Amino acid sequence: MTGRELVYLDHAATTPTAPEVVKVMLPYFNERFGNPSSIYRIARESRKAIESAREQVARAINASPEEIFITSGGTESDNWAIIGSAFSHRKKGNHIITSVIEHHAVLHTCAYLERHGFDVTYLPVDQYGMVSPSALEGALSDETVLVSIMMANNEVGTLQPLAECARICRERGVIFHTDAVQAIGSIPVDVKALGVDLLSLSSHKFYGPKGVGALFVKGGVRLDNLIHGGAQERKRRAGTENIPGIVGMGAAIERAVSRQDAYARHVQTLRDRLYTGIVDRIEHVRLNGHPEKRLPGNLNCSFEFVEGESMLLHLDQAGIAASTGSACTSGSLEPSHVLMAMGIESTNAHGSLRFTLGESNTEEQIEYVLETLPPVVERLRAFSPLYADYRRSCDVQ
Ligand code: PLP
Repeated sequence: MTGRELVYLDHAATTPTAPEVVKVMLPYFNERFGNPSSIYRIARESRKAIESAREQVARAINASPEEIFITSGGTESDNWAIIGSAFSHRKKGNHIITSVIEHHAVLHTCAYLERHGFDVTYLPVDQYGMVSPSALEGALSDETVLVSIMMANNEVGTLQPLAECARICRERGVIFHTDAVQAIGSIPVDVKALGVDLLSLSSHKFYGPKGVGALFVKGGVRLDNLIHGGAQERKRRAGTENIPGIVGMGAAIERAVSRQDAYARHVQTLRDRLYTGIVDRIEHVRLNGHPEKRLPGNLNCSFEFVEGESMLLHLDQAGIAASTGSACTSGSLEPSHVLMAMGIESTNAHGSLRFTLGESNTEEQIEYVLETLPPVVERLRAFSPLYADYRRSCDVQ
């Protein structure tokens, strides 16, 4: 390990497109480039390619192809599921339930609906980031038209009691949507076993290309269209299809599901080694998220007395790419809404790092991180007024 080769530990942000996936996509850029809405041979080939990718997606989640609609990714799928069901069932009621730890693709969509007259209940979570099914049950009313609870959290990896939440909604005749963007490829996702009505997924999280995803819509579930225009996707989602992307998503989901067990074992072994190595070498570290019920490749820790961003910059200089819980991209440096909702103090939330492992990570890379991180934390703590206060308070005792 030279320290120059990139150690990529941010697979929850995105994954590289697998070479074999790129290979099946390539002909659709300039050889088989026909518009699937046309009628000649290369157009028919494009249509066939879309339908075969749809079958691959359907098979991967135990749905039927007619229940799969192609979108531009997780964000659009979430928007469509939520806005589409809300508007379609407006006559029944105007109440939506979600959780405080959802991705912004869900939270900001719900906020948009609040501005359009809908009432939204945001269910709290416990210290592990888990929603309580009984709290969901208590929040349902005759006005509730939709419940949206994510399958696995993108920051801390916590897995929700999804089948139970879906059952509660089914018994009350309320549509249940889940954002499964982080789950596909890491844990089994079976729409029938889960009993969900709507499910969002995104190709770039499972070694497929960016800018393409899908929404599962269970047969018989009503949903207004979100994107208006041509007759694509059986008149449900307009716009000329992203054929290379769709073909890539099909190949990637088939690949991800076929290797999911081995993948989960691999990332979990490395993740556990990373965590034990960190707590052996660094004091004042806490695990964020559920100790067991979480994604196999997710490790989110708070390092007391230091800023996550500072750690990230030092790690980046050493060729390690990870992530933090703070929404620094918004320029606000607000601590993560997920960690705050779990009751983690703001200073600890600011000192959080998220490592998300993937198929190309190696033991050697983990050892390199374990060599690199302790001196970074030590250096930063040496400059931390909070740490100085803490040391002084220990000396007094
Ligand atoms: N939902 C979750 C849980 C995510 O982690 C992400 C991406 O980070 C999204 C939705 C958005 O997906 P996309 O990047 O495909 O729009």
